[in-house]
Amino acid sequence: MHVAGGGLMASILGGRVSEELLPYVKQPSQYIGNEINQLAHEGDWEKSAIRVAIAFPDTYTIGMSHLGCQILYWLVNHTPDCCAERVYCPWTDAEALMRQRGLPLFTWDTRQKVSTADIFAVSLQYEMAFTNVLTLLDLAGIPLRARDRDDTHPLVLAGGPQADNPEPMAAFLDLVVLGDGEDSMAAILAAYLEMKRGGVRRRDMIRQIARRFPWAYAPNLYDVTYDGDGTIHSIERRDPELPSVIERCPTADFEHAPFPVRPIVPYCEVVHDRMAIEIMRGCPQRCRFCHAGYTKRPLGLRSVDRILEMAEESWRSTGMNELGLLSLSTADYPHLRELAERANARFADRKVNISLPSLRVDKMLQNIPWMVSSVRKSGLTMAVEAARDDMRAAIRKLVTDGNLLDGVRQAYQSGWRSIKLYFMSGFPGERTEDIDGIWDLSLKVSEARREVAGHAARVKSSVGWLVPKPYTPFQWAGQPTADYFHDVRRRLRALSKSRRSSVLLQVHSVERSILEAVFARGDRRLGDVIETAWRAGARFDGWDECFDPRRWQEAFDACGIDPAWYAHRERDPHEVFPWSHLHGGAPDEYLSRQYDDVFIKVGAPSPRATIA
Ligand code: SF4
Repeated sequence: MHVAGGGLMASILGGRVSEELLPYVKQPSQYIGNEINQLAHEGDWEKSAIRVAIAFPDTYTIGMSHLGCQILYWLVNHTPDCCAERVYCPWTDAEALMRQRGLPLFTWDTRQKVSTADIFAVSLQYEMAFTNVLTLLDLAGIPLRARDRDDTHPLVLAGGPQADNPEPMAAFLDLVVLGDGEDSMAAILAAYLEMKRGGVRRRDMIRQIARRFPWAYAPNLYDVTYDGDGTIHSIERRDPELPSVIERCPTADFEHAPFPVRPIVPYCEVVHDRMAIEIMRGCPQRCRFCHAGYTKRPLGLRSVDRILEMAEESWRSTGMNELGLLSLSTADYPHLRELAERANARFADRKVNISLPSLRVDKMLQNIPWMVSSVRKSGLTMAVEAARDDMRAAIRKLVTDGNLLDGVRQAYQSGWRSIKLYFMSGFPGERTEDIDGIWDLSLKVSEARREVAGHAARVKSSVGWLVPKPYTPFQWAGQPTADYFHDVRRRLRALSKSRRSSVLLQVHSVERSILEAVFARGDRRLGDVIETAWRAGARFDGWDECFDPRRWQEAFDACGIDPAWYAHRERDPHEVFPWSHLHGGAPDEYLSRQYDDVFIKVGAPSPRATIA
């Protein structure tokens, strides 16, 4: 909706933010906005036909490193008649102050009231940010439930990885976009403009967008019914012109897709303070636990020339000293060697470090000798996931102990001294030796440096807990229980205390991983739990200092919902999933065979045999 005199309102709100909020909060620099390369300026919001609030449901310091939001911000602000401004979730101290002083949620760019946007586009990055979405809506004065909104409220649109199963958030969202954001956002802007000029009402816009675009999902135009055992009986569209299966939106031309080549330079430290160029979208691997590996398809590749051109423009507009060449699995970019060498040749004299995050372990090892001269030699990080060869084969993590140890020896010879290993516990068919193997392999990786440099290497091994994800072979798997994970934790701790070493073991929060598993495969009945927990104070659940599992348990109890049923239950092979009407990638028959193969590879009995 548009408000007359918006410029004056924004300057009043800006003044209030500066005087009533910033002096009293922790890290006020994260709320300042108005950074170098900001695209929205005074007056743009008021004179634009479509105003989009691009919201990230976590702090500015996290959200500023999120490429997806930056791409959408760039795209909208380069679309005629459109203006995008950024919104992040105020930290708990700022939220309390805003409520106390009656300050509405504002945009970071020119201090607009978020409620004056036409579209509130929120990125659902991870399950633990769901409650922050409610904070954003509530602080903006937008009713939490989609059914309570009217023509005066922005369209609440969600995308991102969790949008692949948005059902737990269904009650709070007007529209969900599946797949990539570039072409879908451009299409929605064009459709919105046309409908707005035609005087189409908000609820009709939602219906028309959901009818017109095969990747646009209006959750509240679909009805879900349940069987007596709690599983889903059917998911039916309310209108025959809506798609019965919602597709994913691909990016037609990834090479030339809109990209923020003049990135915003934050005033404060953010998680990744660097220029970031997305060199490839998707991952050709299909590690069996990985949601992104199965859903982000088809693969998008950028040419080396285009990447260097983008990097050059980014450097000229920011002067930053680190260039991140990003993708889900950078090692699988087919021209990586040429890219890193040409990037290094171009930027080395300017003291720009090239960083290659997300290198897969086997390819990383092959590349270590030339990486030494081409990229920054910081600590190596390797996502090994499982500790034994047969389990790694079962989850399709393409590395063996032999080539892992050969590679780390090469790394030590080249001067690396510390390594971080990522493991996961809880894979279907996991055995005691897989758990003990985490410790054994960590030790071997550490000790391998003795042969080369006379001292063991510092190895930090981080152990996470399996969260079975939709659209993967593990979508049927029961997540192990909290007792199981706590036993694993105790066992690993005892092993690490059994001898002096340079290995440091760290484990993730068991309770948080279980909550993630509840929501990852959850249905729309969980919306009540999310709102109840949020009303009881749940905020920033991904942050250790904020996460309170008791509050969540109380919310489940209050709603009469058993989280174990969602997290730990092995699904029947023919069960209708909450996302069965959303197209994720591979067909279920293929995924099912992949799941069966895990048990064959590790020689463990399949739980499917016990499902009636
Ligand atoms: S290599 Fe990484 S991104 Fe690719 S499928 Fe495996 S875990 Fe996922």
